[in-house]
Amino acid sequence: MKILISSCLLGERVRYSGSDSSSSIKNRDLFEEIISSNMIFPICPEVSSGLPIPREPAEQKNNKVYTISNKDLTKQFEKGANNALEICIKNQISVALLKSKSPSCGNNKVYDGTFTSTLIEGNGVTAKLLKENSIKIFDETSLEELKEYINNNF
Ligand code: SF4
Repeated sequence: MKILISSCLLGERVRYSGSDSSSSIKNRDLFEEIISSNMIFPICPEVSSGLPIPREPAEQKNNKVYTISNKDLTKQFEKGANNALEICIKNQISVALLKSKSPSCGNNKVYDGTFTSTLIEGNGVTAKLLKENSIKIFDETSLEELKEYINNNF
């Protein structure tokens, strides 16, 4: 199966802080199994939009994205989301494994825009656009569900 994946989960140091997200993967064996037995298409939507590493942390608020110093990055985040969607369309990808809680990649839960580590219901800008285009989203906390989905659909 072809799977779009947040590149920070693969150990690429693309996060705002210059780090990766490998430590957020609890079931490392299953993660390795999934990435080695499927066709993986990595992307960091934020970096793909031209944002630098490192960069200021950003969170969504009122359907926009602001950095901690209140710079509006909505356009850049939307560009990153479109880049991810373009990869999916071009390669006929219908599944994505994204990093949880990110303002771009977060699935069902994101930070609330107060930079106080408070989570609310919602999707990152990329996750939302992919969902609107019928792409099934999983994150590093739902690897078992992803594995089951692959087994049932491939
Ligand atoms: S935008 Fe997505 S891929 Fe890039 S660092 Fe954030 S969570 Fe990872």
